[in-house]
Amino acid sequence: MEFLRKIEEKWQKRWEEARIFEANPDPSKPKFYITVAYPYPNSPQHIGHARTYTLADAYARYMRMRGYNVLLPMAFHYTGTPVLAMAKRLAENDQELIKDFVNVYKVPKEKLKDLTDPLCMARYFHEEIKEGMKRIGYSIDWRREFTTIDPQYNRFIEWQFHKLREKGYIKRGSHPVGWCPKDGNPVGQHDTEGDIEPEIGEFVLIKFKHGEWVLPTATLRPETVFGVTNIWVNPKALYVKAEVDDEKWITSRECAEKLTYQNRRVTVLEGLYGKELVGKTAENPVTGDKIYILPADFVDPKNATGVVMSVPGHAPYDYVALENLKSKPAELTEYGLKVEDITSIKVISIIAVPGYLEIPAADVVKRMGIREQTDLKLEDATKEVYRHEFHSGRMRTNTGKYAGLPVAEAREKVKQDLISSGKATTMYELLNRPVRCRCGAECVVKIFEDQWFIDYGNPEWKALAHKCLERMRIYPEELRTQYRHVIDWLHEKACARKSGLGTRLPWDPDWIIESLSDSTIYMAYYTIVRHIKLYNIQPNQLTDEVFDYVFLGIGEVEQIAKKTGISPDVLDGMRREFLYFYPLDSRHSAHELIPNHLTFMIFNHTAIFPEELWPRQIVTNGVVTMEGAKMSKSFGNIIPLREGLAAYGADPIRLSVLATAELLQDADFSSAVAKAMLEKLEKLYRIVLQTLQTEETTEKRETRGGLTTVDRWMLSRLQEHIKKATEAMERLEVRKAIQTILFELDQDLQWYQKRIKNCGKTNVIKEVLRNQILMLAPFAPHISEELWEKLDGKGFVSLAPWPRPDETKVDIKAEESEALIMGVLEDTRNILKATKTKPRKIFYYTAAPWKWHVYLKAIEKSVEGRITQSALMKEFLRDPEFKAKARELADFAGKIIEEINQIPPEKKRRLIMVGRINEAQVLKEAEDFLRDELNAELMILEEKEAQLYDPKGKARLARPLRPAIYIE
Ligand SMILES: [Zn+2]
Repeated sequence: MEFLRKIEEKWQKRWEEARIFEANPDPSKPKFYITVAYPYPNSPQHIGHARTYTLADAYARYMRMRGYNVLLPMAFHYTGTPVLAMAKRLAENDQELIKDFVNVYKVPKEKLKDLTDPLCMARYFHEEIKEGMKRIGYSIDWRREFTTIDPQYNRFIEWQFHKLREKGYIKRGSHPVGWCPKDGNPVGQHDTEGDIEPEIGEFVLIKFKHGEWVLPTATLRPETVFGVTNIWVNPKALYVKAEVDDEKWITSRECAEKLTYQNRRVTVLEGLYGKELVGKTAENPVTGDKIYILPADFVDPKNATGVVMSVPGHAPYDYVALENLKSKPAELTEYGLKVEDITSIKVISIIAVPGYLEIPAADVVKRMGIREQTDLKLEDATKEVYRHEFHSGRMRTNTGKYAGLPVAEAREKVKQDLISSGKATTMYELLNRPVRCRCGAECVVKIFEDQWFIDYGNPEWKALAHKCLERMRIYPEELRTQYRHVIDWLHEKACARKSGLGTRLPWDPDWIIESLSDSTIYMAYYTIVRHIKLYNIQPNQLTDEVFDYVFLGIGEVEQIAKKTGISPDVLDGMRREFLYFYPLDSRHSAHELIPNHLTFMIFNHTAIFPEELWPRQIVTNGVVTMEGAKMSKSFGNIIPLREGLAAYGADPIRLSVLATAELLQDADFSSAVAKAMLEKLEKLYRIVLQTLQTEETTEKRETRGGLTTVDRWMLSRLQEHIKKATEAMERLEVRKAIQTILFELDQDLQWYQKRIKNCGKTNVIKEVLRNQILMLAPFAPHISEELWEKLDGKGFVSLAPWPRPDETKVDIKAEESEALIMGVLEDTRNILKATKTKPRKIFYYTAAPWKWHVYLKAIEKSVEGRITQSALMKEFLRDPEFKAKARELADFAGKIIEEINQIPPEKKRRLIMVGRINEAQVLKEAEDFLRDELNAELMILEEKEAQLYDPKGKARLARPLRPAIYIE
């Protein structure tokens, strides 16, 4: 490990000194521009973070070797709640977080106090993450580093927001948003524990009457109001009587508070337990029916109003709860009810659904064998009924003017009618609750008034986003439908907050643009930030006209120069650099950013930039698991990146996070994998040193002559591996590429070394190693540089050309010949194993030329379709030579015919191209090797030889590529 550490330091220093990853426009070279989502500096990196960045870096390094002028920049996202919430938790002395920082990430204890300031925290982890990125060897152009609170970047975001507003994509209005009541901020996916996007749904509250009080029952299925048989409350939960706007409501205690976030005036009058309501009655505002208020444990006071209407005909929960009550006379007595009160309740059916009897809920509950309210199968039962009724249900005649309507249509009509007649209202609720803010508080829905939104619901904008998506390469392609889906369902998104770091909304500076909205087109900013730093351009010089000119080519450069004091040359330099690197060639992140960041990036690019500058490709990958388990604080299985680097080294970590999975899958990290990678690299290191040593000692007597079959075999295999690895890299199948480069090629090299042990042909081994190191360089760049230098490679391997397969070195005859030797060795060993003999002499009889003739002819004929023994016989018996040995011919044909029919077409073509192999000669060339391997004397004979030593009559069994074997 120590030697790897030294190598890493050496090469990281050299790269930095030679500035080889600093990319400037170079019109003589094609460019390739890659970016990865910049990190939130709110905690140190762990091994899980390394996958996306390492993939992007390996890809950048590969494209650089393919001759592209590659730009890979990096910045830090200080904006908004991710940093703010973490600092706040620390300030509140969150013990779990402190334990995490101190014990897992080794943050010095005395540092913690400073980190309670969000800016200090961001700066601290910024340096920590950057150091990790350097130590793992990312080929980043650090000159372009920035943070999202740099005043120049703020100007860039202001310009972007002016553009969006000009296009009509910014709206002001009232919309429901996920909300943290503790922080007083909207919450999106990046603000919640477990990165959960709050899903907002609209409940209809139907106002059942209970004397002067309203019982607002919350439902997503208002059309079922015709089938209500009773009302459910949770007897143990706390409810309140409250004035809500101008009415008197009874709701759960939690609901009363939630209603205040949805613009209702709420005054709580008194509290009461649910059980105090049970046994009383209420009136259905639609049917006028008088019904009981009954107890049910499944009613969650935290969900909507905590008052539920019971529709046992169509809701499995209600059906089961009602059935359960019948068997609880004691409980009923407590509430002043009798069993007959329940048994007299008649279940009402209001929706007809094909495939179900009168009462769909009863059907499903019986079929699934559900007896208790607590049965988890009730969820599935509910979904099933809901789905079937929604898609194929029709309202029955007992629903008045809605009779005959499909359920979907009736739902909307009933809702509108009830609301307009004052019998119902609505309330927003989180459908996937509980969702927790990173600060720990449970999120609610707030109707955000006079809030600023980006209008991703705009249909014309959606059309542009679709157009961009359809032109892009998406890796893995399977996820394209997910992007389509996200573009379709995105709607207004709150884009500003009242707290956190970031850019203020230029026309309403009380607001700060939030983190998923100030990170959509910053890839463009990387292309010019170098100039901003170099010429010390001040924020006030970066007017909208400057960005209009640099990014859109609008305006007169001389005039802009005069107004801003930025010279025309600098302005033109920025414009040229932007146009050189844009469009973005590849955007990288984890799959989880598809529903927000990545789709926002598509939208915003289409809003701001002309079509030819829209992004070309997105690559996403799965997460990293740890020894098969989800990486999580609570499992205690998080390995900080810096710790991993110290334990295993940069190159083994890089290989480990990429080698176990393709893009779509999660990758599994384990110390066993990392150790195996380390050992593999150490072994490669040893092989290179050994090869160089052998070369020194054998150079004088090395045969300068031509290559032997096995040499040609090795070089031919090498071309195949280069081809395979290149194809895999082009499709970003890095797992496959690493398999080929590190394992399959290595197997061939091992075979070759075994075969040639005494011949000392180091030039072939060196050629293999040189190519292997070139292909390994994107994945394990440090050790590759070191070995490249040892092998006298020119310059940095990081800048060397990626190998191309050399067609002149493809030698299928050599490959088939070597396959013959492998086959013979294996067959012999199998016989020895089966007979448990210790051989003294081994005889190989190779097939007679006539057999080869028949064999090849048979293959040729089989290319067109299956061949039969009789057809083959017929073909040859015309020839008098074969007529003379008709019996032998029949015997031979019978043996080969099935085998030939099963050879894959590709292999057939190969065999035809290779033609007859002189097997005896091939075996004789390998005689020393085989003798050593089998530890016996060898006799290699051709079947046709006269006076053949063949005591057991084995020779006649010889077949092309399968010599007969006789052992003494
Ligand atoms: Zn919060």
